[in-house]
Amino acid sequence: MDIVTKYKRLLWILWVCIVPAGVYCIYQFFPPENIEGELWNIVALFILASIVPLIPITINGTTIFFIQWVTLVGFIKYGLFVEVLLFQISIIPVLIRMKIGKKDGYRLPLSSTMFFLVSLFSGFCFYLVGGIIGYQSISSLIVPILVYQIASILSNQLLLMLFYKPLNRKFTYLDFSWDFISNLVMLPQSLTLFYLTYELGPIATVLIGIPFISVSIILRLYNSSEKVNKYLQKAGEFGRQLAESLQVSEVLDLFLQKISKILPVEYAYILDVKDDELVLLRRIEKGERKSNDLPSMKRNRGICGSVWSSGKPVMYGSKTEWKGTTEGYMPEGVESILCVPIIRSQKVRGVLFLASSKKAAYEKFQLMIVDILCSYFGVAIENARHHEQTKHNSERCALTKLYNYRYFESLLTLECNHLNIGKRECLSLIMLDIDHFKRINDEYGHQSGNEILIQLANRLTNCICSSGTVARYGGEEFVILLPDVTKNEAFEVAEGIRKTIANTPFIVHSDLDKKRRTLEVGITASIGVATAPGDADDTLALIRHADRALYTGAKQAGRNRVAEYVK
Ligand code: GH3
Ligand code: MG
Ligand code: MG
Repeated sequence: MDIVTKYKRLLWILWVCIVPAGVYCIYQFFPPENIEGELWNIVALFILASIVPLIPITINGTTIFFIQWVTLVGFIKYGLFVEVLLFQISIIPVLIRMKIGKKDGYRLPLSSTMFFLVSLFSGFCFYLVGGIIGYQSISSLIVPILVYQIASILSNQLLLMLFYKPLNRKFTYLDFSWDFISNLVMLPQSLTLFYLTYELGPIATVLIGIPFISVSIILRLYNSSEKVNKYLQKAGEFGRQLAESLQVSEVLDLFLQKISKILPVEYAYILDVKDDELVLLRRIEKGERKSNDLPSMKRNRGICGSVWSSGKPVMYGSKTEWKGTTEGYMPEGVESILCVPIIRSQKVRGVLFLASSKKAAYEKFQLMIVDILCSYFGVAIENARHHEQTKHNSERCALTKLYNYRYFESLLTLECNHLNIGKRECLSLIMLDIDHFKRINDEYGHQSGNEILIQLANRLTNCICSSGTVARYGGEEFVILLPDVTKNEAFEVAEGIRKTIANTPFIVHSDLDKKRRTLEVGITASIGVATAPGDADDTLALIRHADRALYTGAKQAGRNRVAEYVK
């Protein structure tokens, strides 16, 4: 069990030890005062204390629950016991509003213990400076009430730091100042309600409560439209960034990274429609990239499969809402789900699946934002794929799929630069030309010649693997660039290649033969080797010298042999 889990358990123990016994002691030592004939006033206060926390106000990302102005009235009218109860009652709507799930259950004992201690401490301070409970003039009430407020703010902040420290939650100066300002600003409201209840009874609570609740609702609406604006702005920026990414993996990473920044996402998957299946493209779990080896999904099956077939996004706030519909893999503890189709040219091309272990983690407007982002993503991924394909095509030979001369030339320049700046010790170049290839074409047809070129390209790639780069230089000529391979080593490699060509025949389907029978054709190749910096200092010289070794050293000497450049 880790420290945090132990601490969460400890909070429950702490609550059991402090709160029930504490409430009982307060009842004994500070029993409720002036409660005769006050039932409806008290009920009205309890109702207000349960409604007010349901409409918190968010300012600069800090959520403020205005509870204390109500509990304060309970305190100065009926004493500490009623205040403690009012405070404890208000915890439930606070936790509901904060969408506390089963996993965060520890918040209940934590808040309850904290609220209890704050009530106790500020109540003591009130009594300490001579504060009395019940109706009195404002002049005799004002000092104890200010002391009460300050004691409450300070003890609340202190306990917040103390209780949340083991959970590694940071507190900012902003939290403190908002707490301070909001409590003091609400003081006149408390006093008004206090005096008005003596005049009007429970109606006073309704009269003061309604405008407060209305203003809170208006502020919340304003706040959420501000929030939506901010999200939209972010989405726009994000769309531009996506459009600038030209690599598929970069687009995928950027997309998930940004989505995780603007939404509470613990699990994020991007799935791609391939034929009649949904195949996983990217999988991020708790900020970590995981392998894609999950089984693919079928249309109409599970949440992603249904989103694929319907083309409509879905949002779930808790496990009970989606339990029956899942199939296949689902991480432990998932509650909220946001699943959005990735649509391009009116067709679903993929699905984005986001999940959180928090209940009701996503809001409707967030679903809309993700929907917009998914359309940006659909276009960006298509662009990147297109770009990668075009780049691939421009670098490869269409017949053999090897790199072409254009790519080889730029690679050679790059490697020569590396050699010049000392990043490489040497650079070997193997040049290969098939012997009497014209005859092969004449004898078996051009198509068969092509088949040989394709098979030879595969053999060369297999021989070289990752130790170098094979390219088609032109016609029936191939080049192999071997960084950090000495001339002797390159010679050995070339000799190995020569043998593989000469010893194993190639399979062709002669196009000169009507039945296109399978034939085995033996060929040989002549090979030249040159190495920089020993044989040449620049790219052109290296090519020229390998070429010379090939023609004078190998071809002219009788073919089917390897020759190295000699000065
Ligand atoms: P050498 O031993 O002197 O190299 O003789 P060679 O016949 O291989 O040399 P030459 O340069 O006379 O002829 C090269 C031939 O390679 C000519 C051409 O028909 C053939 N060739 C070049 N590119 C291709 C191709 O893409 N496909 C096919 N099938 N043949 C090609
Ligand atoms: Mg040739
Ligand atoms: Mg040839």
